[in-house]
Amino acid sequence: MKSEKALEILNILKKEYPSIPKSFLEFRNSFELLVSVILSAQCTDKMVNIVAPKLFAAFPDAKSLAGGNLDEIMAIIKPTGFFQNKARSIKNCAKELVERFGSKVPESVEELVTLPGVGRKTANVVTQIAFDKTEGVVIDTHVKRLSNRIGFSRHNDVDKIETDLMELFPKNVWKPLTFYLILHGRNVCDARKPDCENCVISPLCEFYSETKGRPVKKETAKKAAAKTTGSALTKKSAAPVKKSAAKKKAGI
Ligand code: SF4
Repeated sequence: MKSEKALEILNILKKEYPSIPKSFLEFRNSFELLVSVILSAQCTDKMVNIVAPKLFAAFPDAKSLAGGNLDEIMAIIKPTGFFQNKARSIKNCAKELVERFGSKVPESVEELVTLPGVGRKTANVVTQIAFDKTEGVVIDTHVKRLSNRIGFSRHNDVDKIETDLMELFPKNVWKPLTFYLILHGRNVCDARKPDCENCVISPLCEFYSETKGRPVKKETAKKAAAKTTGSALTKKSAAPVKKSAAKKKAGI
């Protein structure tokens, strides 16, 4: 896809979702955000927002979490799923924060990805949301699915999708782009049942031009739905969805 077309799609989504939130995760500082993003893997943000305050009440900073009892940490974070691995990750992450970064969360993606349990998605969320520094694009399950459907990227690998989006869009829109795609994914472009007939970008969407809104194949839908959890930024948005006709929006 050419950049002009990608920007046209972005501008339509921008009008569709005029207000985007700062974050879907609740946090008081960069440490809490970092830990919450790790907990959000394969878990809803809603659940993380319930569990995280209990964890931070018991372990308020990197030092206390690093020295925390693993069984106690597991018991608190159990509702977020994969709690054994997550407990080890956040404890080890806190330990390295203390030992290598003076208990401070580093502000670059390069440094963040050296911490246990931290990949590019988590690092991009933390730098963008906690430090207002944009170095890449946050690729969550919705961003991945919509990038493939719309035609922004033909890759499956999230790092390659991120590279495609960074080449396609100017840096100043990398951060809001994630929010627009998440909101559109939650509100219209569902993993199982994309509502193409009421989608404002359907005239520009490759999936729509290929399928004309026919239902997603069973296998594809299953795979997509199985991955529809675990986004640090995802949560059903309160943002209104205008059910305007796609053709009207495209000026046809
Ligand atoms: S046209 Fe369909 S597949 Fe394309 S973005 Fe809209 S809802 Fe998703």
